[in-house]
Amino acid sequence: MSPRPDLGPKPHLGYTQSRIERAAELRGDDAAVAGLAAQTTAGAYVIGGDWIVLKKATPLNEALFTFDEARALGASGETVFLGLIDGAARFGYGLAPSAAETLKNSEGYLVTDLRSIAVQGLVDAADLPPIAEAKAVLHWHLRHRFCSNCGSSTQAVQAGWRRDCAACKAEHFPRTDPVAIMLAIIDDQCLLGRSPRFVPTMWSCLAGFIEPGEAIEDAVRRETREEAGITCGRVTYFHSQPWPFPSSLMIGCHAQALSRDIVVDRTELEDARWFSKAEVESMLLRRHPQGLTTPPPVAIAHHLIRAWLEDETAFD
Ligand SMILES: [Zn+2]
Repeated sequence: MSPRPDLGPKPHLGYTQSRIERAAELRGDDAAVAGLAAQTTAGAYVIGGDWIVLKKATPLNEALFTFDEARALGASGETVFLGLIDGAARFGYGLAPSAAETLKNSEGYLVTDLRSIAVQGLVDAADLPPIAEAKAVLHWHLRHRFCSNCGSSTQAVQAGWRRDCAACKAEHFPRTDPVAIMLAIIDDQCLLGRSPRFVPTMWSCLAGFIEPGEAIEDAVRRETREEAGITCGRVTYFHSQPWPFPSSLMIGCHAQALSRDIVVDRTELEDARWFSKAEVESMLLRRHPQGLTTPPPVAIAHHLIRAWLEDETAFD
């Protein structure tokens, strides 16, 4: 076996390890939530669709606004109670996407997307999980203004964690869409693919939505077979990651490949091929002679690949 590579300290997996205590028992208590919102320690993340509004500052921009500051930016569509951090209430303040875009021209604000914020480290890393939480729930509100059962308009209740239909009494809850993301392995090689959406040098794990009635392991085997023609046997769970684009949960797995002949589904992937450990190590460390790379540490694919390089898959 080749010596374990020195890849440096393990980076943080983006949007995970939230410090928020969700305090779900308070959501139905309007007076308690209003009381928390009125406290001087309360703060809100301001989100307009895909845009996150930050206060420009150095070295890191500030993500948290007081309610007075947030209201001065524009009316709130919905506000969601995210929970408590050391007793201080945190909220998501839903600004109209058009209002957020207008702020791009304002002095003092940085309006950008969450991917850029995470990859470029534009805010304190501790702010990423609550921003992800707020973005996912507020996006759900924007897309669920009408009842999926009877078509009547719905109203937000439970501090932003449910929408109720007064006409048919249906209750609607924010949804999370599970995605299987996997690194298939055979001997000393792993399977990586390229989506046409990627920057030209990047290769990553295959991934796909888990379908109704499907186990995680079966989704891993199906996606690998559909996208690359590779049959997989044993599948082991690695880690998961909220991925609020708009509301996915990435479920990372390693999979034991049982075949080697790749047949690429060109409607899904630009290309897929086997990579050796030595080549993937050079990609992860940004030393590949052709400049090929793996995804950045904010993404779970980076961690799936790194765990394999460090012999930390459950197969080892
Ligand atoms: Zn209804």
